[in-house]
Amino acid sequence: RLERDRFAGKPPQEVLQAVFGFPGFRSLQAQAVECVMEGRDTLVLMPTGGGKSVCYQIPALCREGMGLVISPLIALMDDQVAGLRQLGINAAALHSELEGDEAAKIRSDLANGRIDLLYISPERLLSSGTLDRLVRIPLSVIAIDEAHCISAWGHEFRPEYRALTALPRHFPHVPRIALTATADERTREDILAALDMPHAEVLVSSFHRPNLNISVQPKASETRQLITALERHKDAASIVYCGSRARTERMATSLRERGWPALAYHAGLSPIEKRAALLRFRSGEPLVIVATIAFGMGIDRPDVRAVVHLDMPASPEAYYQQIGRAGRDGLPSDTLLLYGGEDMARARYWLDQSAAPESEKRIMRSRLEAMIALTETTGCRTRALLHCFGEELAEPCGHCDNCLHPVLTFNGTEAARKLLSAVYRTGQCFGALHVIGVLRGKTTEAITRNGHDKLTVWGIGKDKSEQFWRGVVRQLIARGALRTEGQYGGLILNQNVARPILRGEEEVHLRADPVVETNSRLSDRG
Ligand code: ADP
Ligand code: ZN
Repeated sequence: RLERDRFAGKPPQEVLQAVFGFPGFRSLQAQAVECVMEGRDTLVLMPTGGGKSVCYQIPALCREGMGLVISPLIALMDDQVAGLRQLGINAAALHSELEGDEAAKIRSDLANGRIDLLYISPERLLSSGTLDRLVRIPLSVIAIDEAHCISAWGHEFRPEYRALTALPRHFPHVPRIALTATADERTREDILAALDMPHAEVLVSSFHRPNLNISVQPKASETRQLITALERHKDAASIVYCGSRARTERMATSLRERGWPALAYHAGLSPIEKRAALLRFRSGEPLVIVATIAFGMGIDRPDVRAVVHLDMPASPEAYYQQIGRAGRDGLPSDTLLLYGGEDMARARYWLDQSAAPESEKRIMRSRLEAMIALTETTGCRTRALLHCFGEELAEPCGHCDNCLHPVLTFNGTEAARKLLSAVYRTGQCFGALHVIGVLRGKTTEAITRNGHDKLTVWGIGKDKSEQFWRGVVRQLIARGALRTEGQYGGLILNQNVARPILRGEEEVHLRADPVVETNSRLSDRG
């Protein structure tokens, strides 16, 4: 009897307890395991932290043959393999960063039937040498992890995953299980079609994470808003997401100067720096990781108490996945997203400029618009977010910012007209700050030099605060009446949306932005 088959034929429940030390399956895991045990193809949609791995690891052991797991990231594979080895499972990973002798050892173990579970990257799997070797080994299951990477509609499309469409041809009698945390209908259909599993059992778990308190605020005083959020969880771990590498570095430095244990993390770090950061993150010490989206897949610290976004994610899917890294232990955790009109306009601008094919841009655009709508919604955030994944929450969650502090709206038609006129009169090339300055009757050097203090719109918005006007700009951008152009963010009217407002043919209802609660002790320090 081969070593890899030592669990073959044992009851899954027993192996779960004996090998993994878990008392029982979570609901969907039991169904998924049962399907695969019966040799049926399966698609599992489960949020991050839901426990997807067990769904294929158990059948891999309990069925005869070796389990093959396709995974997109080397770091992710190495983590899984290390974890499994600690449990006494013979797991190995074949990928491009292996030393020659490591690869040779794996090949000999493969041939001798010693490997329980083999993790592999898609490009490695389909290289001819590897494929020839693998088709000769009986497989218990083929798991396609992060299966949404196969879909061009998905937010993390990886062209090399496309090649997996060849799997059924090479391994016709092996059950396939595809797993993902991206749940939308389109992605789901793409996965089923690409892996040619039209009759697959599709198991969808709820994406509701009741322990996450979602809150979304307009940017007012970024650093203070951030620190207020972090302060509630001083002794825990937090993740702060930024849109660029440079920004993570700046923010981490600024937090360290204020006495926070903060580290930057992004794709530009050396492998050694990355490893060191991950080690510290996993050690359990209080830590704030200021990261780009490079910090993500495979992060498994259960007690992350806060996730803060300083820049708006590109889609609800990305947003959900990132905030999902908070509270994996099930305890209450806070998430905060800060957003601004310029950010939205810039995101749209860069998308338009991008060299991606128009079909892809259309998808990305619809996701970006869904994200923008999510930030501006006046209803329950949790509900709006779940709605993006086709899940309807019967009741408002009761603990997001909009549930706790119902949003006031007001008739902002007059304010919108003032602002749009000011943009028009100043020539549609100045940024929000300048236009707001004109409305509020300021006499900055730029305003007087351009003669904008002589315009009829000068000073007509004196009675309102700068923050009020920023809110108006942002919401007019969100609804498409304004856009920005170029890197400097000059505001421009979108005529078809702006004209009816200017002419008084259309009413504009705006949300009254909450007065952002910041920690007053910090204001001295700025
Ligand atoms: P995902 O891949 O869906 O993000 P994982 O497979 O990494 O999730 O599992 C998330 C966490 O849940 C892990 O820490 C894992 O040990 C734990 N877990 C998974 N299944 C069970 C179970 N049946 N009982 C207890 N803990 C579990
Ligand atoms: Zn709510």
